[in-house]
Amino acid sequence: MSQSSYERAHRIQFETSDAYDIDTLSVRAGQSRTAEGEHSDAIFATSSFVFSSAREAAARFGGDEEGNIYSRFTNPTVQAFEERIAALEGGERAVATASGMAAILNLGLALLKQGDHVVCSRSVFGSTVSLFTKYLSRAGIQTTFVDPTDLAAWEAAVTPSTRLFFMETPSNPLAELTDISAVADIAHAHDAWLAVDNCFLTPALQRPLLMGADIVMHSATKYLDGQGRCIGGVLVGRDKEMEEVFGLIRTGGSCMSPFNAWVFLKGLETLPLRMRAHSESALQIATWLQQQPGIRKVYYSGLTDHPQHALACKQQSAFGGVLAFEVDGEREEAWRFIDATQMVSITGNLGDVKSTITHPATTTHGRMSAEERDAAGIREGLIRFSVGLESVDDIKADLQRGLDALSA
Ligand SMILES: *Cc1c(COP(=O)(O)O)cnc(C)c1O
Repeated sequence: MSQSSYERAHRIQFETSDAYDIDTLSVRAGQSRTAEGEHSDAIFATSSFVFSSAREAAARFGGDEEGNIYSRFTNPTVQAFEERIAALEGGERAVATASGMAAILNLGLALLKQGDHVVCSRSVFGSTVSLFTKYLSRAGIQTTFVDPTDLAAWEAAVTPSTRLFFMETPSNPLAELTDISAVADIAHAHDAWLAVDNCFLTPALQRPLLMGADIVMHSATKYLDGQGRCIGGVLVGRDKEMEEVFGLIRTGGSCMSPFNAWVFLKGLETLPLRMRAHSESALQIATWLQQQPGIRKVYYSGLTDHPQHALACKQQSAFGGVLAFEVDGEREEAWRFIDATQMVSITGNLGDVKSTITHPATTTHGRMSAEERDAAGIREGLIRFSVGLESVDDIKADLQRGLDALSA
């Protein structure tokens, strides 16, 4: 076997380049084969790595020689996942974390210091709000929350100490959008970073770094896995900021397990395909729900009467798999609707091949006071629905059971 065909069979390293489409990158980017020539990515289930000599060990530990030492620092399976998601988001480097929340915590602790200020959308994941208000505040980092749709509010919240802007678009569960490039401009005018939680759309449908954001964050737990198996997170951005985050993770220890990284790698292979299918079904369900008696309002950026539909068309290539709707009634009616379904799962997770149904006011947003919920638009009749990959007809038939229970 010639050297080149050996190389081809055994250790092809896929060279990531801008020339490849996202569908190709999701399947190929980041893989580096071992001498065994495995076709699917290998799992390096090892806590440490061995050295050929004491001298080599010293060189690795001293940073004079590149290479693996310990899986809290680097692990080839985790690195393959990092390279693939970095290629998909169009970032220079990614750092994987134990969970989505660990990604946000380490972002805050690595880039900010006592006295710094954050401007954050008020429509972000509930634990994100708690992280900023209860925990990062203890490190002397203060946060101001703003209406995500109001650009003037983002600008007005800036103080001389503002270093980070944080947003999630579309928001959960009301599908409020924030103009990524406009907020990036405001952040940069004040010498601050913009970080975007891109969980709901994933790089398959929205690439914030290409619109001016500095950092993208994911809960890999959601669509990157896509089948509800593992908890994980990741940050993507420029080398400079990611090196800071990497240093903290390596020392602080909230790293991703190699097994989870392998599951996420497998998930990424089908990500664009799944996101297109989720979006197609969600648009059909949202349009259908809008026409049903007993439904007061449907929240989905793909609907032409969504107040920010034009912005959705500008910054997203589709509208994603999560929608929300309000039934005519209060908690009792919403619960009756949910309990009448038979197939869809009553669970807090989303971004799964299985459709999931949730009552935000008493679960994901249950820790907010009634006034806070009211201000955020989370009413008692509101239901969040993450559209899975079951047949659209079967999903509609199941939701019809809920509708029938409303009028019963
Ligand atoms: C789930 C979620 C998170 C938190 O991620 P974990 O993996 O559960 O820690 C953050 N942001 C959004 C939008 C989420 O849906």
